[in-house]
Amino acid sequence: MQRRSVIKSLATGAVAGGAAVAASTFPKPAIAQQTFRWRMQTTWPKNFPGLGTGAELLARLIRDMSDGRLQIEVFGAGEIVPAFETMDAVEGGTLEMGHGAPYYWLNKVPATQFIACMPFGMNAQEQNAWFLFGGGQELADKVYAEMGTKFFPSGNTGTQMMGWFNKEIHSIEDFRGLRYRLPGLGGRVAAAAGATVVNLPGGEIPPALSSGAIDAAEWVGPFNDLAFGFHQFARYYYGPGWHEPATVLDNFISLRAWEQLPNDLKRIVEAANRAVNSTVLSEFVARNNDALEKLINEHNVQQRMLNDETLTALGNLAGQVMNDLASQDAMSREVMDNILRFRKDAMAWSALSEEAFSRARGLDYTYAEPA
Ligand code: CA
Repeated sequence: MQRRSVIKSLATGAVAGGAAVAASTFPKPAIAQQTFRWRMQTTWPKNFPGLGTGAELLARLIRDMSDGRLQIEVFGAGEIVPAFETMDAVEGGTLEMGHGAPYYWLNKVPATQFIACMPFGMNAQEQNAWFLFGGGQELADKVYAEMGTKFFPSGNTGTQMMGWFNKEIHSIEDFRGLRYRLPGLGGRVAAAAGATVVNLPGGEIPPALSSGAIDAAEWVGPFNDLAFGFHQFARYYYGPGWHEPATVLDNFISLRAWEQLPNDLKRIVEAANRAVNSTVLSEFVARNNDALEKLINEHNVQQRMLNDETLTALGNLAGQVMNDLASQDAMSREVMDNILRFRKDAMAWSALSEEAFSRARGLDYTYAEPA
């Protein structure tokens, strides 16, 4: 009876009504209509250049690519929990997502500091190649699963600067007694050289330098350091960034929340992170030199480089410190050894390609100039 009336209505031209009946017979899968609303806290001040804005870009890309099906509200450091408790908040379910740097979690899982970057380790392109083609993503997922989270590389600073000092550094001896803000493995190396090393979230560094609670601090590089105004508190700006040749930023997601996502949204989160990873690095490359020129020309900052003797001493210490840490923790050993093998191949190719090219580019010849 009912079917006959449908056929009849179709036959009489009541197409809209008929279509509605047909649609209700084949409802869309419920999962495709579900909207997920997540909260992400970062370890960065809200909208901090490059880092905080990278996290905002991630949320925006995920929202737009999913047509609003996955919406992520972004909070700056301290808005929900203190910066360094962000991982606990994601692990515990207060937040679904966080954005920071892997070495901030070394007291929870020591192997995270090897994922962040290794002193004298790899450059940004090598680091990304390791994640995509060297088994790095899988290893990092294994490390982050210890904290109940899924890992994505979500930005890279490129080579950093060693930081801000109130005195000149002529030898490894000059690290002795220095109260120095330096996180991760680089901090362990400076401690082995005799420094008193502290880790502070970014927002707490300027007041600590200004009050004299610390003598020296590194943050990232000119673009970010200018934004924090470190030049007001220290005169000497040292390179190179042996301690952080290419620091990875992490996007970590509660595994419970991650596993509730349908596959297409998982791929969107992955693709958005891939885009942010490359965008953040590009922004640092694009903006660092302008900022450095401002620091030198407008703020009278004295830019210095460590001498080779000091760098060689730090390289030796880095090897000892990392071997010691890896011998105490199987997961650190697994990550470090994997990176060491990848780094060896990367260095061999780099010597013939980028390093040889950089040398060629720096030779004394007359080049084209912009008109
Ligand atoms: Ca740093």
